[in-house]
Amino acid sequence: MREDIVEALKNIVGDDWVVNNPEAVKSYLEDETEPGVKVEPAPATDVVVVKPVNAQEVSEILKLANREGVPVYVRGGGTGLACGCVPSKPGVVISMERMKEIEIDKENLMAVVGAGVTLGELLKAAAKEGFFFPPHPGDEGAQIGGLIACNAVGARAVRTGPMRNYVLGLEVVLPTGEILRLGGRLVKDNTGAGKLMHLFIGTEGILGVITKAVLRLSPQYKATATMVVPFNDRRACLNTVPEILQSGIIPLGIEYVQKKEVELTAKRLGLEWPSKEGEYYLLIMLAEFNEDTLYAQLEEIASICRKNGSLEPLLAETPEEQTNILKIRSEIYPTLKPYMEDSPDITVPPANIGKLIEELEKLERKYDIYIPLFGHAADGNLHPVIPVKEGWTKEQYEKLRMEMYQIAVKLGGVTTGEHGVGEARKKYLKLNLSNEAIETLRKIKKVLETTPSH
Ligand SMILES: Cc1cc2nc3c(=O)[nH]c(=O)nc-3n(C[C@H](O)[C@H](O)[C@H](O)COP(=O)(O)OP(=O)(O)OC[C@H]3O[C@@H](n4cnc5c(N)ncnc54)[C@H](O)[C@@H]3O)c2cc1C
Repeated sequence: MREDIVEALKNIVGDDWVVNNPEAVKSYLEDETEPGVKVEPAPATDVVVVKPVNAQEVSEILKLANREGVPVYVRGGGTGLACGCVPSKPGVVISMERMKEIEIDKENLMAVVGAGVTLGELLKAAAKEGFFFPPHPGDEGAQIGGLIACNAVGARAVRTGPMRNYVLGLEVVLPTGEILRLGGRLVKDNTGAGKLMHLFIGTEGILGVITKAVLRLSPQYKATATMVVPFNDRRACLNTVPEILQSGIIPLGIEYVQKKEVELTAKRLGLEWPSKEGEYYLLIMLAEFNEDTLYAQLEEIASICRKNGSLEPLLAETPEEQTNILKIRSEIYPTLKPYMEDSPDITVPPANIGKLIEELEKLERKYDIYIPLFGHAADGNLHPVIPVKEGWTKEQYEKLRMEMYQIAVKLGGVTTGEHGVGEARKKYLKLNLSNEAIETLRKIKKVLETTPSH
């Protein structure tokens, strides 16, 4: 990286917060993307990492990069699964790790948080004040800025939906360096600012750098439980999900997992999977404000499951048991990673999940492979794993990946429900969006990149 650019960055943030020695930069060149879809060729190494502490510093960095025509990569927790924060060309990595402000606003049931606060840090700070934050993508090292940029979802989204539903205000720095403050500690905002704010949620940082957010919190639930429901029949297991929702009970989460993967994961973690029966499981997470409601819901769900052929449901009531089940669920991905080429994030209308399973089973037979499967059953969002198969070429993996994507689209779905597009999956965007839609996004990006408003 040019010495004058490194010096200019030091002038903005201070000498201690600019890193360009190759060893120290290494950990900023990767994220958690599956091996088979990582940025190719390898990430750029001619990279300087800069660590601003506020929006003003981000603004100065972006103005500099714009002036010098240097690419910028925004890095949150680096837990992304689409190489979104990985530098594909020599440039500047803006790491948000120093933006750690957390204010829990008890009266308003909100939190004001810096973009670099991790999910784990927010959960802890909220719990200390008697609050809860439902969204839970598996890795608590993800940062608030990254969660908003990716509109992350996770295992507890059935009742309340993705990150977007929790964002009430945003501070964003545009590529031209202007700082926007949109929304705020407001439950309602119909001024237009609130709507503009949503442009920056889920667009993976391509339209601006998120530096601060106002988030909605939930009061801590007084009664929680996780029910593990075993089935021997896969379709019966998944077909039970719409029936639970139609009953009027909306759990925090309904996850789908399988025996092979949960047992492998539990073993790796030194934990025990609670159920000895069945091959396929629903994990149903419930949270209510009193025990009577909770138990009534548990009974009703258990009876729907039994009617659909489940084996005896198991109940995890203590916080430790519930945490261990969520931990096993969250750690399936890292456990399988050494054996996987890819793990597509396909999503179909929830009612089509049975058809999706049938198509995936056809692929297993066609390619003579076992496809580990897990995911967010009530959201129609599954992660079928493409396993490493000895002797297979890149082309063979690509053929299978494309077939999975085409199946999802044919069933009315998309290639990604959560993990996003990033650098790794840009080439599949056309399967989901028309040329006109992609061009519209490009035009919006161009306007924000090139037109300072004063
Ligand atoms: C084990 C595991 C399980 C996961 N489970 C889920 C899941 O269930 N649901 C789910 O949705 N995701 C899941 N993920 C993916 C990942 O955690 C989310 O995509 C998360 O939102 C990424 O946040 P991050 O801070 O790590 O972002 P990064 O990986 O650092 O970056 C991701 C993207 O966001 C951009 N970005 C980061 N910070 C900012 C900012 N401040 N302003 C603007 N743009 C920014 C980056 O440029 C990049 O494009 C999982 C990941 C792992 C490793």
